[in-house]
Amino acid sequence: MKVFSEAKMLNSYLFSLKKDKNTSFGFVPTMGALHQGHISLIQSCTAKSDISVASIYVNPTQFNNQEDFDKYPNTIGKDLEMLEKAGCDIVFVPKFDQVYGNEAVHRVYDLDGLDIVLEGANRPGHFQGVCNVVHHLLDIVKPDFLFLGQKDFQQTVVLKKLLNIINSPVEIIVCPIVREENGLAMSSRNVRLSEKGRNKAAFISETLQRIKKSRNLPLSTVLQKERAFLNTEPNAHLDYLEMVDGRTLKPITDWEDCDYKVVLVVVIYEGVRLLDNEVLD
Ligand code: AMP
Repeated sequence: MKVFSEAKMLNSYLFSLKKDKNTSFGFVPTMGALHQGHISLIQSCTAKSDISVASIYVNPTQFNNQEDFDKYPNTIGKDLEMLEKAGCDIVFVPKFDQVYGNEAVHRVYDLDGLDIVLEGANRPGHFQGVCNVVHHLLDIVKPDFLFLGQKDFQQTVVLKKLLNIINSPVEIIVCPIVREENGLAMSSRNVRLSEKGRNKAAFISETLQRIKKSRNLPLSTVLQKERAFLNTEPNAHLDYLEMVDGRTLKPITDWEDCDYKVVLVVVIYEGVRLLDNEVLD
């Protein structure tokens, strides 16, 4: 496994590996503090692509809370070991100027409002930051496939829109959510939970499963009841629980409104922002 910190070096190495137009490159962008969820993306990437590239970069432009950025875990040594074990070919571990250049210009994309709802409503600028970093990374890596986790469902919708806006031929591949044994969606932030909290946080995915099985009741009643439940859990504060159209992210009020429904939830538990979702048909 080769590790690069300079964009130009990575770029010319990737160019040297492109034997012919059929050599395919897969790319997995991450912010490090890797867990099995990230590794599942690497495994899908190595299975589908001739060359797999991962990046580890905690992107400051997508944080609107300095404390969250400062507290973001850094486990680079362990991350590199995990990537090598998973069969990753190349890792890009850049500093800010290697991603954004010396005269970083913050681009603003017209994302049709996809960036200002749900996660975007409480984290202004977050998805613009995500689009900026992914656009730069795609320019450097020039992959054929971009592997993303369903865990960040809204991010997959926003990035499909970005690729559309910039006319990119890159194919997005969305990989399923990897969960802890108790059902809690794996996240780099889970290490900030207490041991007891980590065990108890299964109530979030259990709620999604209950909603999935409640089609015999009106959707608005189900959501109202589950919102109340999530807010009464000790140490939990519900940010949002919404059923949306998985293409437009617009809220749905009736089970029959749409054939691609996604229920999305964010709970702040023990002060940690926990995201989860479930796709329904
Ligand atoms: P992050 O390091 O949080 O930016 O995540 C990098 C990529 O890993 C994103 O595409 C995430 O959606 C994906 N990811 C994070 N957690 C999981 C998980 N539990 N299962 C599957 N993919 C995940």
